[in-house]
Amino acid sequence: MHILSLVHLKKNIKTLKVTKSKNATRRTNICRYWIQYTLEAKITIFKIRRRKYIMIFTNAKLYGSNENYTIEIENKKIKKLKSQQCNIKSKKEVIDLKGKLVLPPFVESHIHLDYAFSVGDPYWNESGTLFEAIHIWSKRKKEKKETKSQIKNRATKAINSLIKNGVQHIRSHVDITSPELTGLQALLELKSEFKKWIDLQLVAFPQEGLISYPNGEELMEESIKMGVDALGAIPHYELTEEDGEKSIKKITKLASRHNKLIDVHCDEIDNPQSKFLEVLAGEAYKTGMKNMVTASHTTAMGSYDNSYTQKLFKLLYLSDINFIALPKANMHLQGRNDTYPKRRGITRVKELVESGMNVSFGLDSIKDPWYPLGSTSLINMVEFGLHATHMTGYKDIITALDFITTNGARTLNITNNYELQEGGDANFIVLDVQSDYEAIYSQPQVVYSVRQGEIILNCTPAELNTSESASFLQQKE
Ligand SMILES: [Zn+2]
Repeated sequence: MHILSLVHLKKNIKTLKVTKSKNATRRTNICRYWIQYTLEAKITIFKIRRRKYIMIFTNAKLYGSNENYTIEIENKKIKKLKSQQCNIKSKKEVIDLKGKLVLPPFVESHIHLDYAFSVGDPYWNESGTLFEAIHIWSKRKKEKKETKSQIKNRATKAINSLIKNGVQHIRSHVDITSPELTGLQALLELKSEFKKWIDLQLVAFPQEGLISYPNGEELMEESIKMGVDALGAIPHYELTEEDGEKSIKKITKLASRHNKLIDVHCDEIDNPQSKFLEVLAGEAYKTGMKNMVTASHTTAMGSYDNSYTQKLFKLLYLSDINFIALPKANMHLQGRNDTYPKRRGITRVKELVESGMNVSFGLDSIKDPWYPLGSTSLINMVEFGLHATHMTGYKDIITALDFITTNGARTLNITNNYELQEGGDANFIVLDVQSDYEAIYSQPQVVYSVRQGEIILNCTPAELNTSESASFLQQKE
């Protein structure tokens, strides 16, 4: 039954009700119409539910492979993933990718959505240091007292921009050092509102210290009750070294008890004596939490001496924890007290990767007191990171997208249905390039983002106008 017929039936019933409602015969008619309408509506819905939704992408070059594939989607799942020879039935919807690169959706593994687009208010971080950024944010919280909807507006702008860049998984830290926990309320709402487009994981992050901030531990416990996915800490910012250690041990205990993940802003400082990574990895190993634990930043490792680092790597490997490097943010924030030589302020990415440890890259900031610029292109960040870490060998380049795909998924503990596979969720993106190498050097556009079998982003790449008249005009210039 057509939808319009259902509307028509509804109208008939309404008319009868209004004009002849006191007439018993008419009432019988209403009942008859209503039963007929309800039955036919049920049949229609049943038919719609039974109808299979099929979409096919052909000539897809899979990341890490030189072959072209056909991806057949049926009812939100990848039904078939086959090398190109298979037949395509003309009735089904077919999108010819012409050899474009297909890969799982990007993962933004470390960002602060509640800080996004707050740069310059109440003032700019002219020193460029981490500590001035924290001071500005603290002042802003006290003076501005933003409402939930104001925070949601800023965060929404950031999420939309990330979706346009092919991101479908985000881990956002959210500041819980405010008695009202407004930021957390805002992001919890966005987590549910954006479910169709992204998976948003939230980390309770005590920006001004878990131990040092008034009632910091109670605010952490309240955040757990409100439904965060992971617990954070900032040991190098606590007032004393002892408090730093205490903060790590406290969240490990809580996370273990409540079955939460851990992601610590760990040693984001140039001080080679900042060794909280050792404490965090030790706790992860001893409690058995292992890969549920992540160490973000670890920039002090870039200043450790080699003999200490060599010993540390044994523990890091045993602990099986994840690492997140934030190339743009930390190249900006670190080395601010150096004259020359200036440190790069980035952790030992190359060495961690070569030792078999899991490392992903994150943006950290979009126009906030910690970082004044705001590109949400993860590919751009990866290219930047390769420069910063001296990872510009051919193998480094062609596997670099791992930092924002599979490695990020591992960090976020996405255990099911991330990789493209038959029977898996139909979630993937398409880049406007034909090889893994080209994806890094040419900074391509994301032309499709497909989620649960639906195209959530479709972008037409820019094309050069090569018509005769355009060529003529160019010659005249
Ligand atoms: Zn951060």
